[in-house]
Amino acid sequence: SFRDTWLKNQGDPSRIVSLMDKINPNALLIGFGRRFATYKRAHLLFTDLERLSKIVNNPDYPVQFLFTGKAHPHDGAGQGLIKRIIEISRRPEFLGKIIFLENYDMQLARRLVSGVDIWLNTPTRPLEASGTSGEKALMNGVVNFSVLDGWWLEGYREGAGWALTEKRTYQNQEHQDQLDAATIYSILETEILPLYYARNKKGYSEGWIKVVKNSIAQIAPHYTMKRQLDDYYNKFYNKLAKRFHMLSANDNAKAKEIAAWKEEVVAKWDSIEIVSCDKLEDLKAGDIESGKEYTITYVIDEKGLNDAVGLELVTTYTTADGKQHVYSVEPFSVIKKEGDLYTFQVKHSLSNAGSFKVSYRMFPKNPELPHRQDFCYVRWFI
Ligand SMILES: *Cc1c(COP(=O)(O)O)cnc(C)c1O
Repeated sequence: SFRDTWLKNQGDPSRIVSLMDKINPNALLIGFGRRFATYKRAHLLFTDLERLSKIVNNPDYPVQFLFTGKAHPHDGAGQGLIKRIIEISRRPEFLGKIIFLENYDMQLARRLVSGVDIWLNTPTRPLEASGTSGEKALMNGVVNFSVLDGWWLEGYREGAGWALTEKRTYQNQEHQDQLDAATIYSILETEILPLYYARNKKGYSEGWIKVVKNSIAQIAPHYTMKRQLDDYYNKFYNKLAKRFHMLSANDNAKAKEIAAWKEEVVAKWDSIEIVSCDKLEDLKAGDIESGKEYTITYVIDEKGLNDAVGLELVTTYTTADGKQHVYSVEPFSVIKKEGDLYTFQVKHSLSNAGSFKVSYRMFPKNPELPHRQDFCYVRWFI
């Protein structure tokens, strides 16, 4: 029982015992444990103490909150939050209902993420990178009740936990905090508590068990180490292993061939010459007109390289802040070869309105390269 583990782990037994008298072991238990960084808004639940008091003192729906965590030694604001929560937890109406556990560490965190019914996370959007503890709770059959931010934004499924919308309603953080707090109270009052206490003849809530099962069945599989390793194998390791075998077969024949090809390209790259370029006047200035089709033809002397040059048309646009963005990249096709002279052509048109620019770039082309950055030569020209 958590009573014994507490007594073992929580230092001051007398405080625990007096508190224990107030504790209802059958109440719904909601946990909140993490670093007390201010963006995590540990104080959010305490926005409206009167409403919170009504919730925790409703005899039909007993509920208790366990808070724990540490602030960084230099984070005065985070420490202030802990102080405030401890003060609130000592008020008569919250005694044994809001409990702050001291000496937060991995051991305590571990017990909490496996021992509570609900895991609460209330970060300021969009600052939560992950909220890992919610994933740990999930693996233990604990149901998440969190802001749709961090992992929960991807993980949440309807009927498998509860979520506060990811949308920010207010720019003003204080107003947003008030709205979020009101949403938490309301979801507790109208959904979570009634469902948890909808007990059947056997003494448990079938609806609640359904949420727990949904959470384990529909969300947990996406957060296991197996899923992560499968991703690594499928996206990276298998491809790398295959390429390694291809490169190293026959005394590294392929690797030597690619290395020799790269050396040749390096030696000749600067001598590669644009022999002619055929494009309309307005394109020469780099400006293009939307709705019009352009045919652009380049003749390039590859200087003894054998079809080792690729050519692309890059369209960019500029946003109001003066930043340039890539709109599209279109490859030229080689339409003719005469000795070292390669003719490249692309047909280009834009259907979007706006201010666009085009430019061209040439790069070493070889289907045996794993990706463009493997041999990052490039020459730009207008
Ligand atoms: C998992 C874990 C965290 C991180 O939790 P978040 O929800 O990502 O803030 C912090 N402390 C301990 C001890 C943990 O085990």
